[in-house]
Parts: sequence; C-alpha cells; structure tokens
Amino acid sequence: MKIHLKELFDIVGEVKEFDYMISPEEVGEYSSYDFTAPIAVRGMVENRAGVVTLSFSVVFTLSQVCDRCLKEFEREYSYDLSHILVRQLHSGRDDYDEYVVCEDNVLELDELVISDLLLQLPTKILCKEDCKGLCFKCGKDLNDGDCDCPKDPF
Ligand SMILES: [Zn+2]
Ligand SMILES: [Zn+2]
Repeated sequence: MKIHLKELFDIVGEVKEFDYMISPEEVGEYSSYDFTAPIAVRGMVENRAGVVTLSFSVVFTLSQVCDRCLKEFEREYSYDLSHILVRQLHSGRDDYDEYVVCEDNVLELDELVISDLLLQLPTKILCKEDCKGLCFKCGKDLNDGDCDCPKDPF
C-alpha cells in the first residue's frame, strides 16, 4: 500500500488513517517465516504541529518450530510501532530507526511494516519460556516427563 504524503507534509492537522491486510504471500518475498494468516495493519499518519508521525499496530500469527523441543506451534504477535516521516534527513541525523525518509512524498507502507515486524521478532523461538527440550541421548520430549537415561554428573 502506498500512502501519498504531499498534503500530510504540507497541511498541519492533516490525518490519514489506514486499516488493511498484507497477504502472507507478500511477506514471503521478504522472509522465510511461515505466516498462517494475513497480517492486520491499522494506524494513521498525522501532521502534528508540522511533525509528520506514522503510528500503527500490526497483528499476525506465525507457525514456528521450537528451538529446543522441535515442536510446531502457532503464536500471535502484536506490536505497536511509530516513526517520524521526513522528506529528507538533515545532516547529522542518522537515527534511521525513528526517521523514515519519504522521497517523492510517497511512503511504501508494506515494506516498512514488514521490515519493522521482522526486526521485532525474537531471535530465539521457544514454544514456552521454560521449555525443557529433548533428551540429547534418547530424543524424548522432556516436557512430557523425564526419560530413563542416566543423568551425567556434570
Ligand atoms: Zn519447546
Ligand atoms: Zn533420554
């Protein structure tokens, strides 16, 4: 989705709201994560006293494999994010996390949303915080109880 920003940059008080979905196929072009449903994006761009702010929430569900026990599970994620939109960066400002440069007064919202959400995702994927994982000898899922393997006296 493209958002045209000319009025938003030029008119103080201007607001543009959006509420739409990004298909899993489209995200698939950017990542190998397994999105099980469309990604819900809703938010607004607002010119407040000359500062143009983009704020949005993104909600999506991923099918993932636990790093420890290799079980497949689905989890819903939801993030609230915001950026300041500028036509160009002034010298010395290189905080790209916060500032998004929109040349030609156009914001490619999908790209920004997708790269934002990929940055938010945890690097370690666990089905639950205290997942016990698999026994490295017999492969039993220790979340279902202990196995009979002798415990090494480390
Ligand atoms: Zn697990
Ligand atoms: Zn075992």
